[in-house]
Amino acid sequence: MKEKLKHSIKLVEKVFSENSISRENKGMLAFSGGIDSTTVLNLPPVLAAVKDGSIDLLFNDTLVEFPETRKFVRYVRDELGANVVIAKPKTTFKEIVKRYGFPIHPRGGKDYLKSRATNVCCSALKKAPMKKALKEHGWAISMTGLRADESYNRRTMAKRYGEYFFSKTYKHNRCHPILHWTLKDVWAFQKACGFKYNILYDKVTYLNDGAADFSYENAKKYPVRTGCWCCPQALRTGKLKWMREHFPKMFHALMINMGLGEVLLDMRIKKNANVKTRRALLMRDINYKEIFGVERALEAHPCYFDTL
Ligand code: SF4
Repeated sequence: MKEKLKHSIKLVEKVFSENSISRENKGMLAFSGGIDSTTVLNLPPVLAAVKDGSIDLLFNDTLVEFPETRKFVRYVRDELGANVVIAKPKTTFKEIVKRYGFPIHPRGGKDYLKSRATNVCCSALKKAPMKKALKEHGWAISMTGLRADESYNRRTMAKRYGEYFFSKTYKHNRCHPILHWTLKDVWAFQKACGFKYNILYDKVTYLNDGAADFSYENAKKYPVRTGCWCCPQALRTGKLKWMREHFPKMFHALMINMGLGEVLLDMRIKKNANVKTRRALLMRDINYKEIFGVERALEAHPCYFDTL
């Protein structure tokens, strides 16, 4: 981690000097309130530049942020004196769901129709407001907390563009200072510096605690995502169990009022109907849908939607 830290600091210094970053020629850090952008914020040259007003923080408020994330962004603004620019979308998550359905399938998948809701949602709630803010503020550079090991797409991007490059889309230099860090590196850095982070990360959910041989040594934890509270993208990694345990009211609103439970139930029925050995499961799902309804099914069987 020490070598990676040295490298990131040198890289940021080089980027600042090559682009003459100052209070008159500002740069920007895309700050989501998650641990990765918080790590970039706490790299010494970035922190100094944020405090002296040469780097602005751009917080993209999707209007479906966790209260904890908003609170953390306010803390960063008030305690560090950071200039936080807030970008907001023109539409809402609810509107998108009404028109395209829930963004359940991964972004950029081969099946265009399946991934359409996710593509539209991320473009409307994240990309468009970000582009608008970039145009309005004309920052000389932008930085992110992107890491290559987060996903296949990010690894591909890292290989293609590297950690410092000219972005044709944004028409300025872009830098990903911790592109080659792992999640372990990030937390080791946090521990070494002791900087504050979003308290959502302290809400722990064990995914294998129902196993007979469960022990804290072999515990599998839900990898907390701090973005859009109602996003079902992370449900494959245990988000609904985490929501159920730590945010029961929001979980209820999402599953019942917003209708995600019904959508997931239909997906299950479709999946089980195609597999002969799943007849018993199929009958249970049909009973839940047609006799009990999602709300009563959840009361009787709370972990029902913990996995897809
Ligand atoms: S993370 Fe999910 S809810 Fe948020 S913008 Fe992307 S698809 Fe929409």
